[in-house]
Amino acid sequence: MGHICLQRILKLLLDQAKRSPRRFRADQGPRSLFAGWTAVVPSLTSMRLGKLASAAATWALALSAFALPAFSPQVAEPLIEAKVTGDAGKRQLSVEIAWPSGLKPRFPRDESGAIFDRSVAIAGAARTPFATIESRPDWAAECHREGCRIAYSVDFGKGIVGDRRGGWGFEEKQGIVLAPLVRWLVRPEDRGARGRLRVDFAGGKHLEMVSGVMDGRTNSIDTDLVVMDGPHVVLGDFTHKTIDLPGARIDVAIGTGARGVRDDDLLHWIREGAQDVAALLGRFPLARLQVIVASGGPYAVGSAVTMGMGGASIFVVVGERTRKADLLRDWVMTHEMLHVAFPNMGFRQRWMEEGLSTYLEPLLRARRSRHEPRLVWAEFVRAMPQGLPKEGDQGLDRTFTWGRRYWGGAMFWLHVDLEIRKRTDGLKSLDDVLRAITARGGNVALRWDLAQLFAVSENATGTTVLREIYDDWSGRAVSPDLDALWTSLGVRPEKSDRIRFDDEAPLAPIRRDLTAKFPVPALAATRP
Ligand SMILES: [Zn+2]
Repeated sequence: MGHICLQRILKLLLDQAKRSPRRFRADQGPRSLFAGWTAVVPSLTSMRLGKLASAAATWALALSAFALPAFSPQVAEPLIEAKVTGDAGKRQLSVEIAWPSGLKPRFPRDESGAIFDRSVAIAGAARTPFATIESRPDWAAECHREGCRIAYSVDFGKGIVGDRRGGWGFEEKQGIVLAPLVRWLVRPEDRGARGRLRVDFAGGKHLEMVSGVMDGRTNSIDTDLVVMDGPHVVLGDFTHKTIDLPGARIDVAIGTGARGVRDDDLLHWIREGAQDVAALLGRFPLARLQVIVASGGPYAVGSAVTMGMGGASIFVVVGERTRKADLLRDWVMTHEMLHVAFPNMGFRQRWMEEGLSTYLEPLLRARRSRHEPRLVWAEFVRAMPQGLPKEGDQGLDRTFTWGRRYWGGAMFWLHVDLEIRKRTDGLKSLDDVLRAITARGGNVALRWDLAQLFAVSENATGTTVLREIYDDWSGRAVSPDLDALWTSLGVRPEKSDRIRFDDEAPLAPIRRDLTAKFPVPALAATRP
């Protein structure tokens, strides 16, 4: 289950956080949708003042000044505003965009012919009526110079049939349409362009837009332009629920597909997954998460994916005949919640993300008495050899196979965890690294680099274990002796996938600690 992100996200989000709240509010205040031809944010100190020729823009500027009694020099920030109308029956979107000058627009790649009826009206001094883009070959350059309006339609039904792009195309799962912005929204040609994006969606009663970047809203995106590179946007007919956790909220959008469990059972399942992770971290790793549940199909819990991109979301499919007991036994939600707690590390280190979820998920469920330690180790013994390097392996950063990504990554984190525990006489562990990541604000909505991760780990454990093992395993095929490792942990494989524990083994105390119950409140110990 991958999660997807973009390189610039951390920097941009940090920059955004540094902006003054007043400035931020002013950006959202006086300019109504499509108020002026020029959608550049008016700025009091901007050299663009003379260019804001239209009365609407001048009026917007005046209002902006009113909303901004004190100010500091700011660079005007372009705003892309899109009005989108969805038609569930036709399976189409109508898109109209107020495009700011200063950015050159580009339509998404479209091999399946889903985007049609493209037209453009140039704004600014060159004001023109709408005309097909075919009749204005320089339309993109004109939009760049003058600003423009762009109108077109998207046949997402056609896109679903024609797209063959894995995680980035239109896709339909049990009545919910995955519609990444990168697939259908006109974007700046310059992928590093700064600015804001606003999308307002109207789809009638049975077609809503939901995404992790919407922060509890539906049908309305208002965020940094960076999310255009692929947030988790879905279209569908949803029931909306909320799970409140201490300091955090999970918004749950449940699709209308057939299912054998009640909404309350779904919410209970999501909450348990969240609490597995919160029990480790001391709190939920971020203030707000979107969970999208599709239902239908043969599997108890089908495909699941967690996405970051400035707003965390989990998309998961629950089977038609899934029972409550299946959800209580399920591991997928805990796996995805662990993704939520870990920062995006980029494509080469995807194995770190998947490996962490694969390694910690069974341990966390065992610590909350939701899983048996014996079964945890039986699975490790059986499955972890799939993570060993094969012929031609070039290390975890350069070998992109399923086995290396999931179980190679799990094997890595097991070794990191054991080594931290050994070097600190059991005082520190991988748990401390994860708590420190949360304390530093790390989560799937943000991008971290390795240096940040290593620094946090060193600080949390007083060791350089994570960096050392990464340096060793990332660039070459390292093949640890797993049988010797199981023996030292006192894990003895027996017939038919069973295992027996040997408490005399040298690392048996560490093995017991790995699945030791989370501490109960101290009050229990002081009772007579
Ligand atoms: Zn995963």
